[in-house]
Amino acid sequence: VTSAPAPAAAARHLPSGATAAALSGVTGIPLAVLSGSAAAWYALLASTAAAFVATLAGAYAARRAEGRTRAGWVLLALGSAGWGVGNVYWAGKELAVHAQVLFPSGSDLAFLLFPVCGAAGLWLLAGNAARLGTRLTSLLDGLIFTGSLLAVAWVATLGTIYHRAGDSTWSFVVSLAYPVSDLALGTMVFLLATRTRRGSRRVVGLLILSLLSMTLSDTLFAVGRADGSYTSGQLSDAGWIIGFSALAFAGWFRTHTRIQLEEEVVHGRWQVLLPYVPFGATLAIGVLLLVQGRSLDVVPVVVVLVVFAFVMIRQMVTLLHNSALVEQMEYQAFHDPLTGLATRAVFTDRLEHALALREQGGHDVVAIYLDLNDFTVLNDTLGHEAGDALLKGVAERLRACFRPSDTIARVGGDEFGVLVEGSAKPETEAQRILEGLRRPFALRGGETTPSVSIGVSATRNLPNGTTLTPRSLMKQVDLALAAAKATGTNDYAVFEPIMSHTFDEEMALRRELAQALEAGELTVVHQPIHDLQTRRIVGVEALARWSDGTLGEVPPATFIPVAERAHLIAPIGEFVLDQACLEFVRWNGAGDKYLSVNVSTLQLLEPTFEEMVTTTAARHGLPPRQLVLEVTETALAEESDIAPVLSGLRERGFRVAIDDFGTGYASLRYLQHFPADVIKIDRSYVMDIEHDEEAARLLGALLQMLSTLDLTCIAEGVESEGQATRLAALGCRYTQGFLFSRPTRLHQLDPDAVAPRPVPAARAPSP
Ligand code: C2E
Ligand code: MG
Ligand code: MG
Repeated sequence: VTSAPAPAAAARHLPSGATAAALSGVTGIPLAVLSGSAAAWYALLASTAAAFVATLAGAYAARRAEGRTRAGWVLLALGSAGWGVGNVYWAGKELAVHAQVLFPSGSDLAFLLFPVCGAAGLWLLAGNAARLGTRLTSLLDGLIFTGSLLAVAWVATLGTIYHRAGDSTWSFVVSLAYPVSDLALGTMVFLLATRTRRGSRRVVGLLILSLLSMTLSDTLFAVGRADGSYTSGQLSDAGWIIGFSALAFAGWFRTHTRIQLEEEVVHGRWQVLLPYVPFGATLAIGVLLLVQGRSLDVVPVVVVLVVFAFVMIRQMVTLLHNSALVEQMEYQAFHDPLTGLATRAVFTDRLEHALALREQGGHDVVAIYLDLNDFTVLNDTLGHEAGDALLKGVAERLRACFRPSDTIARVGGDEFGVLVEGSAKPETEAQRILEGLRRPFALRGGETTPSVSIGVSATRNLPNGTTLTPRSLMKQVDLALAAAKATGTNDYAVFEPIMSHTFDEEMALRRELAQALEAGELTVVHQPIHDLQTRRIVGVEALARWSDGTLGEVPPATFIPVAERAHLIAPIGEFVLDQACLEFVRWNGAGDKYLSVNVSTLQLLEPTFEEMVTTTAARHGLPPRQLVLEVTETALAEESDIAPVLSGLRERGFRVAIDDFGTGYASLRYLQHFPADVIKIDRSYVMDIEHDEEAARLLGALLQMLSTLDLTCIAEGVESEGQATRLAALGCRYTQGFLFSRPTRLHQLDPDAVAPRPVPAARAPSP
């Protein structure tokens, strides 16, 4: 049931359901004490007042509710108002005019408005969350229940009343209308109660109390009036006062709490059996009476027959409802609810089928996966509705791209699969999709042209005689998709056997690397950085090493990217930093040299990175000034999020170096604002300077520009004395390379060594 959630504060100050019930009960007490005209006055005035208060409470609840729930409360309020008006008429006749109210009279019609409107109102409340089938079922349940009770009640008392008051059938019908409609009302409450979740029980409990006491009073009223013994103010009138008081409470509570109904499911066993219980009981009583030799009136027999018809209809409705649900479930198992495309299960099934047919000389098969590249971003920025709309739109376009006989499926959140049987070229099929998605999609907030990655594999590319399982074909498509994603946006890749080789290798490497890290098989070596003027070591760079028993030396250029893909880079980087600090402090605890450590972009994106660096350095007693963190230039260009991290590190006193400078795409302009202290110029700029004037001039210009930005430059990969001399001449002061030292274990490196100067004392480098 939907309605505005109530303010929690208001709900907290409400009395409990039990208190409300007790308070309602108290309103009936005076009738037990008073007698005569005082009792009549109290009964008439109090019940009128209670009916009108209940009217107001119901109207108030309706105002706060919506849809069907609102209509339900409106009817309850209307019923209460009708009853109140009837009672005013009655009271006026009896108390003011002192006239006996005729029976039946206009007031009876007004009174009867309550059970009629009330039953309808409760039906709306109870059936609110459900579809028509379920509402029909609850209505029929109510009728079956009421009919059965009516038949039993007839046999028990009503028949006797009828035969006694035989002369005025009209008055009998009216007096009977009270308990019968109250029974219907009670049944509705019963249904509402069985379908209400815990938490709404307070309101429903009060409704039950209200209807039970009303039914009791109505029945005794009907019996009393039929035999002429009824007088206003008799104790049974208390039921009306209590009933309307409880109803008023229920309406008042209802404005603060929701009525939560159980979601509709397939009808459970007990729900299917429910109508048989009262009907069966009634039949049993009938049979018992017949066995005792009593004759049965025509009325209960007719009623039982009608009830039987209701039971039949009820079961038919239930069966239809269940089979519709089963159909719906079947559809849902095979179709994606959002796009209406086939599901992954269907895709695999069709693939299996197609491959089996191919084995028997059937068509070739082309399998395609398509992935929306930035779907998560789109979902986060434009909202899920826009995301859904895009998925639907893509599904629509895919449908338009292929024949109806081809299978198009949604195989994942933002992943689609296409299966084409025939000798189509995989490239053509992929191209067709790219073409189909080229036109932008109109989404909330403008137009979007999604970038996609497509992986394709086709059986026609296989060597003759090879058989494929659906699993292996899907793995091929997956690999092709991964390859397409790696190459960039809006691209496709067709599976090639080499892809699965690299895949297997990668997986093996990931496993081995994780084990090596665990077993402490990773080590750190250091390569010194020299001052060309003094020829002394100014710092060292830590480089990770992995020597595997079977794989041998695995170079970092191989295992660092694997570590990044396998989410192992953070622990590995942490290990390298820790180990490098440990060795460095032992080697050069009090020195003025610095330690340079490589850091992967992914590490910088870890929220705890700054903290980790700070604590690690502190643990080893390494002052921040002596630690340089190297970040590759490519990373800078790709990740705008890391600039703040680097600034944070520099604020803590660490220095930042841009590694492999010149290989990425960072422009010099960009560098101006970048939080860095050191630039490490890539080997490729140094390699040729000895013999290539052009290269030397380029490096010279680069060094000049960098010096204006107040950045310290280190030339990487200096292998020859000629290069060193040239570098010095070009104004580069610091170098790192095989010329002075290969990366080695730190304890084998003498911190105070002075590198020998070249033998033919060349032109001295300018300071
Ligand atoms: P890098 O940071 O630019 O390190 C310098 C690389 O150049 C080292 O390769 C080093 O051995 C090599 N090198 C030094 N001098 C010379 C020379 O004169 N000639 C030539 N040809 N090469 C020279 P290495 O140790 O194989 O490391 C390769 C790359 O792997 C490093 O490049 C760095 O980007 C990365 N790497 C190494 N250790 C780590 C680490 O612990 N964490 C991270 N994230 N990356 C690391
Ligand atoms: Mg480096
Ligand atoms: Mg480098």
